[in-house]
Amino acid sequence: MPKLTICGGGNAAHVLIALAGHAGWEVDVLAPLYDEAERLRAGMALGGITAHFADRVVTGRAGRVGANPAEVVPGSELVLLALPAFAHGSILQTIAPFLDRGARLGALPARGGLDYQVRALLAVHDHSPPAPYTLFGLQTLPWACRITTYGREVTVLGTKAVVDLAAMPAAAAPLLARQLSPLFGVHLHPISSFLGLTLANTGQLIHPGIMVGLCRGREESTFDPDEVPLFYQGVDETTAGVLQAMSVEVQQLAGRLAGRLADFNSQEVLPLHEWLRRSYPADITDPHTLKSAFVTNRAYAGLRLPTRPAGQRRTVDFSSRYLAEDIPYGLAVVRGLAELAGLATPAIDEVILWAQARLGHTYLTGGQLAGPDLARTRAPQVYGLHHLDQLSAELLSGK
Ligand code: NAD
Repeated sequence: MPKLTICGGGNAAHVLIALAGHAGWEVDVLAPLYDEAERLRAGMALGGITAHFADRVVTGRAGRVGANPAEVVPGSELVLLALPAFAHGSILQTIAPFLDRGARLGALPARGGLDYQVRALLAVHDHSPPAPYTLFGLQTLPWACRITTYGREVTVLGTKAVVDLAAMPAAAAPLLARQLSPLFGVHLHPISSFLGLTLANTGQLIHPGIMVGLCRGREESTFDPDEVPLFYQGVDETTAGVLQAMSVEVQQLAGRLAGRLADFNSQEVLPLHEWLRRSYPADITDPHTLKSAFVTNRAYAGLRLPTRPAGQRRTVDFSSRYLAEDIPYGLAVVRGLAELAGLATPAIDEVILWAQARLGHTYLTGGQLAGPDLARTRAPQVYGLHHLDQLSAELLSGK
């Protein structure tokens, strides 16, 4: 039986345990955060995790669940990072010494700049070519999902029709996509570069863009627990305008990079509205406008603004992954690429400036990506990439 290790114990990890266990994989889980390993073990003892999809119910179990990578990672032919990108660095550092040669290491989703970070971190452990692992990343998580009972039940609100996959070496993408599509229960579509994945990361537009739309000028608002605003269904014309302006800038950047980097295919970076229609053809009732594609999407229905308790009421949780992941591991990476390409991105800058104030970090200052917290991002500059010809070399070496 092939063995895989799932790193993480959140929503995505729950769905994966159910799917992979059900499909007959030998599943181990690395869950070093808090007491998650213990709680997952308790769930496994009670029969495993059941994932409730719209059209089926799937139950699967993990074998070993632990916080120590030495106990779960060795022997894995597949290692999946199913956690927010801000956890990639610490997890990669702990698993690197235990990865089998030839292992396939993937992130669901990759978010921006994953290839830069993996090269930098794993090079520390193995300098000998060829790369001892194959890296792959998904453009997004295949499912909209939420845990209903920790260690036992997860609800899958929607499954995307198609999800892009990039690999390093790039030539590995088609085979990985073919082999992993049945496991994830989604059509994986191979694309040619991690740069494409970084630019095509729509979470970096959607999450911070909607946070701006719902919260800018109302940062101190509190809500009755039953009246927390809907997140995706709360998209109005103004928010749709913010999202569209950022998407246009990403398209401009993709076009400019394609003109300068022979190995980059800008067609793989879809405009946001087109991506929504391609990902959720059966879930969106009215796909005609960007706003209607959000508010009539069944997969997004009922999801609310992230909040935390404030006495008897709730207040906005600006530390949620909608900013803490999607700015440093998303928009800041795009902004760094735009700086290399000499492209102004006023709409993206406006969102970063608002969000970084909420996060208490400074990435962008004086119109430059040169703030004191830049090193907390995966912008190319953090990895010594300061010229487009270096990006071109990166693209070539990923082949
Ligand atoms: P989540 O919030 O449920 O994941 C949190 C989990 O990540 C924690 O429970 C823990 O297991 C792990 N984690 C966090 N910090 C860690 C650390 N420092 N060290 C070790 N482990 C740590 O996230 P999720 O919903 O499973 O999402 C996973 C990824 O998928 C994220 O990138 C998210 O943006 C993306 N995504 C999720 C959804 C969804 O519907 N859940 C939809 C689209 C994209």
